[in-house]
Amino acid sequence: MAATIIDGKQVAADMRAELKDKVAKLKEEGIVPGLAVVLVGDDPASRSYVTAKERACEELGIFSDDNRLAEDTSQEDLMALVDKLNNDAKINGILVQLPLPKHLNESEVLLAIDPNKDVDGFHPINVGKMVVGEDAFLPCTPHGIIHLLKRSGVELSGAEVVVVGRSNIVGKPIANMLIQKNDMGNATVTVCHTRTKDLASHTKRADIIIAAAGRPNTVTADMVKDGVVVIDVGVNRVEDATKKKGYRLVGDVDFEGVKEKASLITPVPGGVGPMTITMLLYNTVESAEKAAKSKT
Ligand code: NAP
Repeated sequence: MAATIIDGKQVAADMRAELKDKVAKLKEEGIVPGLAVVLVGDDPASRSYVTAKERACEELGIFSDDNRLAEDTSQEDLMALVDKLNNDAKINGILVQLPLPKHLNESEVLLAIDPNKDVDGFHPINVGKMVVGEDAFLPCTPHGIIHLLKRSGVELSGAEVVVVGRSNIVGKPIANMLIQKNDMGNATVTVCHTRTKDLASHTKRADIIIAAAGRPNTVTADMVKDGVVVIDVGVNRVEDATKKKGYRLVGDVDFEGVKEKASLITPVPGGVGPMTITMLLYNTVESAEKAAKSKT
């Protein structure tokens, strides 16, 4: 039986419509959520991410403060900008687009962002709060995965989840969220990586597989059980002479094979990707709501 496809674009559109209503209500109270985006240099991929974020803000009525800095910007100037944004009441969220050029100290910059405006959820204070189960900004990609699962009716409580990948932006945070004693968690989680001895022995047990390895065909049909739910986070370019650009995007999962055994599966593109920016907007709106409450 072929799987039902989880339509990330639709889930993201539904969430954005809900957020748009929230922004409209905040505006009635005189509050306009504001997101500052900082881009250093001219990397084309980063530029297009930043443009997409700005467009998404516009669509929802969120104020977008665009800060594009030259490639040779000094650490001092970047830190001064972060400080200015930390103290700007119009700004509820600060996003510094990574990676930064090599001469800049990324961790010093991320540490300088006010944790109350850290809508990317990368500040160690927010990471620590997430781990101990306190209220925190949750990192966007894993948070988006949880919403995709919940809105697709997937039961997380008691589910056997296998996460493939242990990066700080996907693998570790999603594993952490899923083991929390709350309605986004209560799952039993195994985290696999390149030192895992027999990946298939783990994935075959899984009710839910979250693949975030950054390598095509990491999960194939022979590695999964019938009825598994598959979230494919990977975005990989593979050569394809039939495409104008000479490549196409694929995930980490052999989609065609695995969809014949899975109950639910995300496509690439159109699965996890659209959720990431949506969760950034979600965190920005939440930050504006918190800032408004703290004033009353
Ligand atoms: P990353 O930092 O490169 O981490 C990859 C992880 O996968 C590492 O922990 C690595 O293990 C593990 N791994 C690699 N090959 C493996 C294999 N054959 N078997 C088991 N584990 C393996 O990547 P990332 O930043 O987490 O991103 C993962 C993928 O998701 C990438 O394709 C990225 O483009 C995509 N992504 C998509 C979005 C989105 O919004 N759609 C957002 C973020 C990332 P070791 O630790 O042992 O090296």
